[in-house]
Amino acid sequence: MPVSELDHRLVALRQQVREWAADLRPIALEIDRDPDAINDHLDLPAIRYLSTMVIPPEYGAPPMTVAGHRFYGMASLERAVVLEELACADAGTLLAAPGASMSGVLVDLLADEQQKEWFYGQLLERPQWTFFGLTEPNRGSDAGGLRTALSADGVLTGEKRYVGNATRASLGVVFARTRPGPLGIVATLVRTSAPGYTAVPIDTVGLRGARIGAITLDRVEIPPEHVLGSHLSAAQRGMWACVRTFNRLRPGVAAIALGIARAAYEYVLAERDRPGRDGRDRLDVLGRRIEATRRLIRSAAMSVDANGGHGHLASAAKARACRLAEDATLEACELLGPGARLEHPVLDKLTRDARGVEFMEGTENMQRLNVFHGYLAGAFGR
Ligand SMILES: Cc1cc2nc3c(=O)[nH]c(=O)nc-3n(C[C@H](O)[C@H](O)[C@H](O)COP(=O)(O)OP(=O)(O)OC[C@H]3O[C@@H](n4cnc5c(N)ncnc54)[C@H](O)[C@@H]3O)c2cc1C
Repeated sequence: MPVSELDHRLVALRQQVREWAADLRPIALEIDRDPDAINDHLDLPAIRYLSTMVIPPEYGAPPMTVAGHRFYGMASLERAVVLEELACADAGTLLAAPGASMSGVLVDLLADEQQKEWFYGQLLERPQWTFFGLTEPNRGSDAGGLRTALSADGVLTGEKRYVGNATRASLGVVFARTRPGPLGIVATLVRTSAPGYTAVPIDTVGLRGARIGAITLDRVEIPPEHVLGSHLSAAQRGMWACVRTFNRLRPGVAAIALGIARAAYEYVLAERDRPGRDGRDRLDVLGRRIEATRRLIRSAAMSVDANGGHGHLASAAKARACRLAEDATLEACELLGPGARLEHPVLDKLTRDARGVEFMEGTENMQRLNVFHGYLAGAFGR
């Protein structure tokens, strides 16, 4: 079986999620207008699944059982399969869902037993949003240059920008600096009810469901037991964990971009009765690019699942999938003719969302740098 083919477990999972995803498209424009409308849809099976996804079984997460197989969303390949299907229905609603999300992957990697019990325990009590506070004003791509400070007596001060779900989260993680240099970066658990935490929404054009926000941390007190990775060496606590977390997450973001591209492609197929020869050829090319990108994403996910340090393929997949999402949505607009974005609000939304996913977890330029570093290190075999 080629590496990019799914086994029967994942085929069954994809089928189940595809059925659940059908609930998301009808609410896509509602969530786009008002991201807080997600509160009216928390009982949808897809949203309930997302709210406990990425919680390991040993902490009591209820499994998603499909055809006798249990799924917890811990593997990158599994997440890529789920996220493509949900994003193809609506990426905005997917990103609006509560759950462990990015923070869950970091906590799995970095937290000690007590921290995991605390973090996952909170999320199992009731559906809650989490946030992942890394990006700072004017230092987005330069994550290593972050300035948010955690003092020796546990006081957190700084600013974060463009953080998903920052205004509706009840807990999350913040990357901060304890001293200059790459070894001075740590991640800490933060409750948003803590005095000094404030967040305001940032209005966006695309992926509005993600409800990104600006966070101010004004002398937030952090108990020592909330600093992640104190049981690990200094080299493993900060940027190392951040890089490995992104390695694990990027196939999923790539799958979201792929889902957006597929949605645009399928939208044209459903809307355009008789594509002329040129239209058919363009759709064929798009269809082949979608399939090729899916294979790359699956290979990247398997590579990361086998070794969390192998993120070069994940960066290649993320860059290629985001480029595809932009090309596919613009192509769909052209194929449906002048005024397509006015006449087809769903297509207009897909086109806006495609631009947004480019910025999630690093822009194309950053992915290209990762791929180049991988090439220099011999990761692709020369
Ligand atoms: C929907 C969405 C959700 C997000 N969620 C989160 C989240 O949950 N948590 C979080 O912390 N952040 C989040 N972000 C922020 C995201 O990680 C940043 O937008 C991203 O890292 C880019 O940072 P920036 O926007 O400051 O752009 P900049 O870093 O200012 O980049 C602007 C442009 O300059 C280019 N550029 C920058 N540096 C270089 C370089 N060295 N070489 C070549 N080109 C360069 C970039 O490629 C880009 O094209 C989210 C963003 C979006 C859109």
